[in-house]
Order: sequence, then C-alpha cells, then structure tokens
Amino acid sequence: MTTQPVLFGAVEAGGTKFVVAIADSRGEILARERFPTTDPPATLAAVIAFLRQRGGTSGAFGAIGIACFGPVELDRNAARYGFIGRTPKVGWSGTDIAGVLAREFSCPIGFDTDTNAAALAEHRWGAARGVDNLVYLTIGTGIGGGILVDGAPIHGLMHPEMGHVYPRRHPLDLSFPGVCPFHGDCMEGLASGPAILARTGASLQELDAAHSQWQIEADYLGQLCALLVMTVSPQRIVVGGGVMSQKRLLPLVHERMRHWLGGYIDRSEVVSQLDRYVVAPGLGDNAGVLGALALAMDAAK
Ligand code: ZN
Repeated sequence: MTTQPVLFGAVEAGGTKFVVAIADSRGEILARERFPTTDPPATLAAVIAFLRQRGGTSGAFGAIGIACFGPVELDRNAARYGFIGRTPKVGWSGTDIAGVLAREFSCPIGFDTDTNAAALAEHRWGAARGVDNLVYLTIGTGIGGGILVDGAPIHGLMHPEMGHVYPRRHPLDLSFPGVCPFHGDCMEGLASGPAILARTGASLQELDAAHSQWQIEADYLGQLCALLVMTVSPQRIVVGGGVMSQKRLLPLVHERMRHWLGGYIDRSEVVSQLDRYVVAPGLGDNAGVLGALALAMDAAK
C-alpha cells in the first residue's frame, strides 16, 4: 500500500485576480491557475473547482493557505474570523473565505492578509532571508504592508494598515486632495498608482524622469520607510508592487528616506547601506501565492 503524498493548497485572493496553486511538501508548485476576481460565489466556486480537480483523486490536502486582500478578521475567537471586512471592492464586504474552504475540504486553513503572507514568503524564500524582523510593503493599486516580528506576522487588534497614515505634504503637491475614499490624502491617497494617475493623467512609467511626480512619489515613500524604521525597528524593508516595478524609483526613495530620518538613527544599515536595507522583492509577482503556501505549511504543523 502506498501513502498519498501530502499536498498543500495556496490561494492568493486579490481584489483584481485570484491565483490558486497546489504544491508538494517541499514547496514545489505542481499546478497553478489565475482568474479575475468577480463576485464572491462565482470566484470561490472557481477556487474550489481548481483545488478539487488538481488536488489529486482524493482531493485531500495537508492544509490550505489563503493570502487575502484586506481588511480581514484575523482574531480566531471572533465570530467573523476568516471574513473580509468593509471593503470598497463591490460585493465582497462580509464575505466568509476561510470558513467556506474549511467546510469544503475539512483540513487546517492558514489565513492572513496578502501582505503578511508576502512578508512570510520573502522571509522564507526571498529578499528577507536571514532576518526575523521585517516589513513588506506593496505600492500599487493600494498601499499596504505586513510586519513580521520574530518571524511571525503582527495581528493584535486586526493587522497593520500603514498605507493609511498621513505623510507631510510635499511642497509641489499641496492642492491635490488625494484619492483614498476614507482619508483623502493619506499615504495611499497620495502615493498609490491611482493617485499618480489622478494627479497627472498617466502612470509613473509614462512620465519623463525629470517630471516632478518622481520626486513627489519618492518623498512620500521615503517618509513611510522612515516612519517604519522609527516605529517598528525592522532589520529590513522589502518594497514591491506595481509602482515599484519602475527600477529607478527605489534609489530616489533611499535618498528621501535618508532625508526624513534626519541623521537620528546611527546605524550603518540606514546611514551607508540603505540599498541593502530597503530592497526590492526577491519573489516578484510570486510573493502572494508563495505566501499562501507558507500559510498552508504553517497551518499543517
Ligand atoms: Zn486612507
């Protein structure tokens, strides 16, 4: 009699797309698929169908990990644990994700925010290997981040939402109201992809290197990184997301971050080695789904 190999399911639940994958116990991805996020019943049905079809005849998983767009309820004692909270994503507020998959597959479910999961993946396999205290930031359609302390994501009241803190306004950007539906000119309202588009009618990559938007963007992100150094004291900050795919942005962020730190932190990491301290992701677009895999592996322990 042969024993079935242990399989893990990984679900990256994003606001615009879902990525689902199946991996073995070594973390090798055996199958993956992506589809657009539509309404909750149709999208979750597609997730379940993929896991059933590709998960082997038994359809049994060691565990399934879900890296979910937020806000989400992470308190295991809460009635709405595993639910999506109030989100601008139409139709998704109050959707139960973890419970649906737990009932369908009767296996342990790992559940966390997409950014906490990406932080876990970068810690395990990517640009933050070897450090246990780190921040993962994503700068794209929104701005969010995950924080690991001693290798574990911070939860607490809910989960960090550092994309919604208020930066000091850049002198060339005093009149733009910002695009955050909750705060207007918070970090996400001023420095996300949609903010750049609303301000200039273009994406960053379409703007000439001399355009002031590059300086404005770098300044806000430099403020956010400096704020994180002061509040969280991470050993590394990994910055990903669509806006950061413009490679020339990161050195500008380093420059502005150094400015906002004001010489106060006397450590070589932030004085002379910022290029190794605030870094691009090592896993690229795979951080989300690999984060979900990390959650699954941890849930199975
Ligand atoms: Zn906001």
